[in-house]
Amino acid sequence: MPSEYCPSRHRTVRRLTRVVNVGGVGVGGDNPIRVQSMTTSDTEDVAATVAQAIRLAEAGSEIIRITAPNKAAAAALKEIRAKFRAAGFTQPLVADIHFLPAAAMEAVEHVEKIRVNPGNYADKKKFAVLEYTDAAYAEELERLHAAFSPLVLRAKELGRSLRIGTNHGSLSDRIMNRFGDSPNGMVESALEFIRIAESHGFKDMVLSMKSSNPKVMVEAYRLAVARMTELGMDYPLHLGVTEAGEGEDARIKSAIGIGSLLADGLGDTIRVSLTEDPWHEIPVCREIVRRAEALAALGAASTAALPADPADPFSFARRETETITLSTKCLAGSAETPRVIVRSVAGLADWQAAAKELLDAHAAQREVRAEGLLVRLDDVAHAAGLRSLRKALGQAVPALFVETTLSPADFPFDGDGCRLVVVKAFSAADGAEIKAWGEVAVKHDALLAVDLDGPTLTALAKELSAIPASRLILTSSQPQEGLHATGTCRELVRCAAAAKLKAPLWIRATVANSVLIDPGFQSRLLEASIHAGGLLVDGYGDLLSCETPATTAKSLTLAYDILQGARMRQTKTEYVACPSCGRTLFDIQSTTLKIKERTGHLKSVTIAVMGCIVNGPGEMADADFGYVGGAPGKINLYVGKTPVKFNIPQEEAVERLVDLIKEKGKWVEA
Ligand code: SF4
Repeated sequence: MPSEYCPSRHRTVRRLTRVVNVGGVGVGGDNPIRVQSMTTSDTEDVAATVAQAIRLAEAGSEIIRITAPNKAAAAALKEIRAKFRAAGFTQPLVADIHFLPAAAMEAVEHVEKIRVNPGNYADKKKFAVLEYTDAAYAEELERLHAAFSPLVLRAKELGRSLRIGTNHGSLSDRIMNRFGDSPNGMVESALEFIRIAESHGFKDMVLSMKSSNPKVMVEAYRLAVARMTELGMDYPLHLGVTEAGEGEDARIKSAIGIGSLLADGLGDTIRVSLTEDPWHEIPVCREIVRRAEALAALGAASTAALPADPADPFSFARRETETITLSTKCLAGSAETPRVIVRSVAGLADWQAAAKELLDAHAAQREVRAEGLLVRLDDVAHAAGLRSLRKALGQAVPALFVETTLSPADFPFDGDGCRLVVVKAFSAADGAEIKAWGEVAVKHDALLAVDLDGPTLTALAKELSAIPASRLILTSSQPQEGLHATGTCRELVRCAAAAKLKAPLWIRATVANSVLIDPGFQSRLLEASIHAGGLLVDGYGDLLSCETPATTAKSLTLAYDILQGARMRQTKTEYVACPSCGRTLFDIQSTTLKIKERTGHLKSVTIAVMGCIVNGPGEMADADFGYVGGAPGKINLYVGKTPVKFNIPQEEAVERLVDLIKEKGKWVEA
């Protein structure tokens, strides 16, 4: 098992890669992280595709991908490129190839880069279960060598580059049977192609390891880098979460997957896949890249080099933590799904407004509940407000989290209502104070959330160990010097493990934990997704708060949506929707919205909406139902990976999907 995948998990240090020249745009090395997108028009409609390419270039896409589903579409790239250049645009064009080497051989004549999917370049997918002997496997590889070599040799002659673009959803039967539908299988799939290219002395390659599941995606990229390092390879990475869908959910999933890898210093070019017009992808890419650049600047100003934290970065497992009781019906810790805390906007100065905010948020359309309300108490004059708020909320929220600078003697533990969690920042010199807080917490049946960093925890380990484990929460509201916020929590976990403390970790997406403090909810959404996502995919985090200046309802749903995006807690229908491309066989944007309208109230169902069957069955690996373009205007419906209804006219397909969900007993009325 490889051991290292990035220069530092605590500060951003960009991984050194070779520079791949993509038609004059350098990818990798010291080049900026490139942003890119893909046209969605029918490639053979040259005018429409040129118009989309121009719109993407004007929006800031530095590389533009176009699908080439057959030889005719690949041939159309010649005219597309000529017209695009004639319009004064210099951005390199990339042909996206699945299944057809002949299309790749045509496309390589016309565009600067070819993306091949190693899962289907020379393999017809039959989903066959076969036992390959070593000899049979070697024979398969020889066949692959013969099929892929002509493209490599022609790319070498013409100075083109290649992307070896592995998708979790479309691994070959050969790989599936030997390595499984796993990150390891994805890496091996790419390595087969890299080895063939290298056998011809060709190294102008970029790698991708995409999945619609950010956990799988992150694991696959980490594993790919670790394997490449072992093998002395330094290919740049193209990052993306496939089939992310649309709206805030898609932005959250992309920020979790792409943003957390960039924070670890991995990634040289990115694409955010949205089921929206493709130019909407570019501003999201830019915002994610801006944060990666800011993190890298901070990382470069530090020399911190810390020991590894206990997470296995290549295999997800939750950090084992104690169970704590927020209320009799709401426990937290690794045996539970992560809990959601929301920060009050009004605060104790207007406790009635604070109570109303929370109750309004609970009354909002989506049925998600805060499991803790966070307020600040620095002035004893507001103690009465705290008592009133606690009483007014009663059982509406399991616990009231009170961030305070008061002393234990001044803190108003008296009163009725929900449980109190005292949130207190400590420094290494606060041994006596932490002891006093531990004692009063026990006396008043309260919990204590200690806000500190790793070195402070180490200094206070003796006092912290004396507090009953069932009363303690660890958190960090600001980064340790020289580390980023995610690295600070990783170091906190390492120090906790060394001190044998199993207290749950509360992830706080605060302004202080942000790398860029831009106004607006979208900025908070990206910051929170990157920070919390990076920890959740490591298996860290038992409580989460997104402390945005937006309404309580917005901050509440953001935290739930991040947990859902990181596949840690499902509270609404999960959609896996492809971004569409020239292969798409129906209007995917309006169809996805229609499906969301009909099924959005189902809480434990995952539905895939795929424009065609290229990535369909595989990417739907963890979907319960699939709605997939089978032929123009015709839809196939899937249960899991199995197609069960074929060629349904598009106009009736949404209702037939609802029927299918009912038939399988997964339907509830709205
Ligand atoms: S699944 Fe969607 S994006 Fe992927 S090839 Fe098919 S239509 Fe294009």
